Amino acid sequence: MSRLILLSPGPVTLSDRVRQALLSEDVCHREPDFAQLVLGLKSALVQLYGAAQTGFEAIILNGSGTCAVEAMISSLAPQEATTLVVGNGVYGERIADMLRIRGRPLVEISTGWTDPMDLERTEKALRDNPSISHVVVIHNETTTGRLNDIQALADLCERYEKWLMIDAVSSFGAEAINFEHPRLLAVASAGNKCLHGIVGVAFVVVRYAYMDSHPSQADSLYLNLFTYRDAQKRGFSPYTPPTHALFALKEALAELRTQGGWTARRDRYRQLSQCLRQSLAGLGVPLLLKETAYSSMISSFVIPQGWDYNDIHDRLREAGFVIYAGQGDLYRSIFRISTMGDISDRDLDRLIDVLSTMLHKGEG
Ligand SMILES: *Cc1c(COP(=O)(O)O)cnc(C)c1O
Repeated sequence: MSRLILLSPGPVTLSDRVRQALLSEDVCHREPDFAQLVLGLKSALVQLYGAAQTGFEAIILNGSGTCAVEAMISSLAPQEATTLVVGNGVYGERIADMLRIRGRPLVEISTGWTDPMDLERTEKALRDNPSISHVVVIHNETTTGRLNDIQALADLCERYEKWLMIDAVSSFGAEAINFEHPRLLAVASAGNKCLHGIVGVAFVVVRYAYMDSHPSQADSLYLNLFTYRDAQKRGFSPYTPPTHALFALKEALAELRTQGGWTARRDRYRQLSQCLRQSLAGLGVPLLLKETAYSSMISSFVIPQGWDYNDIHDRLREAGFVIYAGQGDLYRSIFRISTMGDISDRDLDRLIDVLSTMLHKGEG
């Protein structure tokens, strides 16, 4: 049977195993068996990065990735002290908006969407502005697919004694995150990107000693990490969770473990991405950024002369593939392909065949 292949950075193409988990028996979230499921998921999420098991706990939320990021910002970014946002894309700007909407003090160090983070200006801000206590960054900036150098930023946080929070929505499960770093406070992500579950489960992996010693900053009932944390100590949930999405995530995490964990997933993504990037370069479709800037699984390609995004999208869609447009000003100039999800070598070969036939025929 031919299946539609999603090349978007979430939702992803599901494996049969994960799809099958969606047919699990109905369950009520006030029952003890459900609590066991939640407790199991909480530990599986921290086990994925071995070092997270010391000092961190996973708090599970209902929603897409933005929910996890906003709960992290709402609950942990201080109301009185300043949060520094280091951004180079749509998702960094979204975090600055989350702070602004709450009237929280912030400093924004942004660069253009195709540029790396500005660590020089960041260091200067950290040095000159003693009211900054927290720093936020996007790990894999999905706008372009750039993997930001969070280790360098974490080291600045160590030098200036700031807490680091990371939007790892499109990297958790497939890129390195240094949970041994003493200044790492929290990492927000979701089940439907590199973990290959379905949309509906978000989570924040957070340093528990910090939560024990700091009051909640939340100005929202629903996005208060502390409330979820208390209820989840026994596996329960303060609000009705997306039960079947949790079954899917459990299965997806089991599948990831049998496939060799996050490093194996990163290697698999890299293999697919390298093949795709080389093939498209051969067809005269260059990458937007230099190749070494990219994460293992998101690529942004410059739309070739004579084509527009919709032509490329529609032709691929007819052939059973869904690609992803650029955001904002990049809508006209790029398209994006993510190799997240259950994508086989055959799927990729067929994609490259379709692209090469299409582009050789010329004009869109
Ligand atoms: C997908 C994504 C989000 C969350 O977006 P949703 O639309 O809520 O899923 C946040 N940050 C990054 C970097 C993302 O890739």
